[in-house]
Amino acid sequence: MKRIGILTSGGDAPGMNAAIRAVARKALHEGLEVYGINYGFAGLVAGDIFKMDLHTVGDKIQRGGTMLYSARYPEFAKEEGQLRGIEQLNKFGIEALVVIGGDGSYHGALRLTEHGYNAIGLPGTIDNDIPYTDFTIGFDTSVNTVVEAIDRLRDTAASHERTFVVEVMGRGAGDIALWAGVAGGAQDIIIPEHEFNVKAIADRLRRSRELGQKHAIIVLAEGVMHADEFAKELSAYGDFQLRATVLGHVVRGGSPTARDRVMASQMGAYAVELLLQGKGGLAVGIQNNKLVSHPMLDLFDAKHQAELSLYDLAQDLSF
Ligand code: ATP
Repeated sequence: MKRIGILTSGGDAPGMNAAIRAVARKALHEGLEVYGINYGFAGLVAGDIFKMDLHTVGDKIQRGGTMLYSARYPEFAKEEGQLRGIEQLNKFGIEALVVIGGDGSYHGALRLTEHGYNAIGLPGTIDNDIPYTDFTIGFDTSVNTVVEAIDRLRDTAASHERTFVVEVMGRGAGDIALWAGVAGGAQDIIIPEHEFNVKAIADRLRRSRELGQKHAIIVLAEGVMHADEFAKELSAYGDFQLRATVLGHVVRGGSPTARDRVMASQMGAYAVELLLQGKGGLAVGIQNNKLVSHPMLDLFDAKHQAELSLYDLAQDLSF
């Protein structure tokens, strides 16, 4: 194998650039040629492909987003799209690929492996919703961004004795809400993986007010409902001086944390090692602090499990 390609696909995540850098530099270190593919599978099909060198990925490790851009390209689910992508791979002499993205992107990567082009997937998504990895690239940064926002909201919540409902990203997975909720000292955390009862939350809020806690933060994952909707339901049970804040895409941006940069660097280099061993159709992860790889097919049958002990912990630590 002489030439590999890299692309990012699906939602962007902080740390993707660190992963791109690691793949490129490790591959160059091993004597391979490296090609960057812009705009995910859309750019692959369009032939938006360029040769990378050591400098292409310089001064990028600290930047959020993805220097290779990203795109949603549903046409790649059809064989016609895949064959057009393969034509481009042949044209550029690219023999194997690293795909950085979420589970949708892994489907695209697996299709390429089935067509004879080994592809390795790296988990690049803030949602932390990929099975067989404890953490995804971008998750730690997004949690830290939410915690910073909660700290700021707490200042104003305390000054006016208010309750803030903070809506964070996470359609199917509540990990961002869960981790940021614990780190931000939330009174309650509402996630798709755990049932909740608005009246019980109101009762807890009232009790905590009676015990002297005059302000509160409730963290809500967007997949459950919208913050203003939840605040309206909660206000039916009492006057809690509610305010709703939606953090939205702010949580996706920003310079990656050291933890995300290190993990992305480890995973990127490991992906190149796997390709050099002639392996494809694998998803890289980190479990119990060790790099692992699992067949992508296994991931599609599995479901990421949220760390629900954190939910109970948050309940025990708030009053
Ligand atoms: P995120 O978790 O951030 O949404 P994702 O990788 O799951 O990331 P998707 O939009 O689901 O994001 O997928 C990204 C791209 O992967 C799609 O736009 C498409 O190009 C490709 N893709 C998704 N599903 C398939 C599939 N079944 N077969 C081939 N390619 C696919």
